Amino acid sequence: MKPIIFIILDGLGDRPIKELNWQTPLEAAQTPNLDAMAQFGITGLIHTIERGIRPGSDVAHLSILGYDPRHYYSGRGPFEASGYGIQLQSGDIAFRGNLATTNDKFIVVDRRAGRIESSEPFAKLLNGIEIDQVKVIAKAGLNHRIAVVLRGPGLSDQITDVDPHLVNKPVLRCQPKNDSSQAKFTAAIVNKLIDHAHKLFKEHPLNKKRVKNKQPPANYLLVRGAGKLMNFKSFFEVYGLKSACIAGAGLYKGIARILGMEITDVSGANGKPDSNIVGKIKKAIELTKTYDFIFVHIKATDSLAEDGKFAEKMHFIEKIDDAIAPLLPFVKNRRLIVSVTGDHTTASDLRIHTADEVPILVAGFGVRTDHVEKFGERPCQRGGLGHIQGRNLIDFLINLRGESHLYGN
Ligand code: ZN
Repeated sequence: MKPIIFIILDGLGDRPIKELNWQTPLEAAQTPNLDAMAQFGITGLIHTIERGIRPGSDVAHLSILGYDPRHYYSGRGPFEASGYGIQLQSGDIAFRGNLATTNDKFIVVDRRAGRIESSEPFAKLLNGIEIDQVKVIAKAGLNHRIAVVLRGPGLSDQITDVDPHLVNKPVLRCQPKNDSSQAKFTAAIVNKLIDHAHKLFKEHPLNKKRVKNKQPPANYLLVRGAGKLMNFKSFFEVYGLKSACIAGAGLYKGIARILGMEITDVSGANGKPDSNIVGKIKKAIELTKTYDFIFVHIKATDSLAEDGKFAEKMHFIEKIDDAIAPLLPFVKNRRLIVSVTGDHTTASDLRIHTADEVPILVAGFGVRTDHVEKFGERPCQRGGLGHIQGRNLIDFLINLRGESHLYGN
């Protein structure tokens, strides 16, 4: 059976930009390899969730991997925590967290504490403590990021964020979203944890040193995205595909781990514009010997657009194009199936995710080609895939392998 390499370029889609002569970054980029794949493949546009819905990266990934977020999503926390390597248990409530800087009136001055080098010393202070018989698990991520999990009986994810999501705003108190005793109990635990963390953090020698050096101290823990782990069937159970994931950023590793994919490491794969994407593609080709489905995630297309850096996004797409060149011979010989798309559009002019469809190409074994010869938002409008829904993509790819489940007989 032919293996599938499933490449997600986060926030790939974009809108026409004046400075790019009213082209999108993908259209303006020089992409001979992606264009060759479009020639050897079929193209189209994908609604990763539903027409008109602006997707977050977490729900968009669930949807394009065939897991309906309406059933499988209760907040981003569990996916982040899992991506940091925390083994979640049923009943756990997980959060995304930031180390932040507040002033003495609890106004947020810096949501990322000056992108502090590491949250490790602070995570260590919280990891393992107990509040009213609820255990706290804390694990450091990159820079200011920290995952927090509450473990114990009677917890609920129906609680609000502590993070106001903006600077110059006061921190929020965690509130129950309903009248249940579980939600009230959990909100009270969160507030106790935050207050306790503040007391510990502000006295930490590292923060005293930061203040002395005129750096923002990491004196506050902002948590958000509370969620519980839903009951997932593994990717193998659902599709019968042995799968692996190559990703730099925590969220995507977390989703993959929860779906039972093997997480593989590539040195220098960091989710940033200087990520080792050449190494990622090389690794993906290597993994086709052992796995049926290799999920490759590349993040910076999204982050550059969120910073309004459309020219950098364009150049980054050109870098990706160079990196995928080794896939071409496999595609031309129909030795594997390659799918390239994004999880949503990130409009560089608006600096947000939008509901605009995302270009998609599928090339290689079993593909009926269309007449599109360039990979881009406009050329893909004429593609043979038409407008495909995210939730149908994996079934479409499995059909190419010739092994989908027969409906009826
Ligand atoms: Zn995304």
